[in-house]
Amino acid sequence: MLSVTDLQKTYPSGDEALKGVSLDVTGSETVAMIGPSGAGKSTFIRCVNRLTEPTGGSVELDGLEITGLSGKELRNARRDMGMIFQEYNLIERLTVMENVLSGRLGYVSTWDAFRRKFAGDDIERAYEVLDRVGLGGHENNRADELSGGQRQRVGIARAILQRPKILLVDEPTSSLDPESSRAVMDLLTEIAAEDDIPVLINIHEVDLAEEYAGRIVGLRDGQKVFEGGPDDLDETA
Ligand code: ADP
Ligand code: ADP
Repeated sequence: MLSVTDLQKTYPSGDEALKGVSLDVTGSETVAMIGPSGAGKSTFIRCVNRLTEPTGGSVELDGLEITGLSGKELRNARRDMGMIFQEYNLIERLTVMENVLSGRLGYVSTWDAFRRKFAGDDIERAYEVLDRVGLGGHENNRADELSGGQRQRVGIARAILQRPKILLVDEPTSSLDPESSRAVMDLLTEIAAEDDIPVLINIHEVDLAEEYAGRIVGLRDGQKVFEGGPDDLDETA
């Protein structure tokens, strides 16, 4: 369970991106965070895993206070939070397999590096997650040979390789066509249910949020302005 309390972020520029946002996400729930550009959605997700340092509030994952961690403890905690990005963040000239494994132990460039760094278990697990996201047989394709939808699946495979306790997903569909978008949302909600982990998704397409999320959180100007089920959203719209 993720428990975020009064999260605040003021950038050095003076931008108050988060003005005290609280949110609990549990179980196999898919929660969508919606709101206009600049509302603070991306800052929220990045503060949860501390890719960005929050300036106030607290984040707990399964009872572990994330905001107080540093060094090795922080790296371990980050491994429990699978992160999926809008622009996939793949290393283009590496293969699908290399990209998936690089999420676990950092940058790897060649199969030689693999043999030094990875145990057979890791590689076996990588084949397993690639099958699961529908990329079985594509292990040796370079990332830059793939379509957008396939790239996002590599991003998802990389995120689930480490059996995370939560998936944090930042605008997964904004670079994809409608069909690939739905396939990615199907896959994410399926993972939430099957692995019994929560998925927090920033998304600007309200129709996808309504269709796939069990709960919707609306942000505006760094504050939570809505929280409820998809049906509640209809009533206020
Ligand atoms: P969203 O994801 O909802 O579009 P963001 O979290 O990207 O919102 O941005 C929230 C606010 O914080 C915006 O005003 C944005 O300009 C500002 N912001 C985001 N990142 C930075 C940054 N690195 N430095 C300064 N201001 C930032
Ligand atoms: P988003 O889709 O999250 O709104 P943006 O296009 O706003 O993305 O931001 C892209 C990148 O630029 C992010 O890394 C964000 O932190 C940074 N950024 C956004 N707004 C600002 C700002 N006002 N000053 C500095 N960096 C910013």
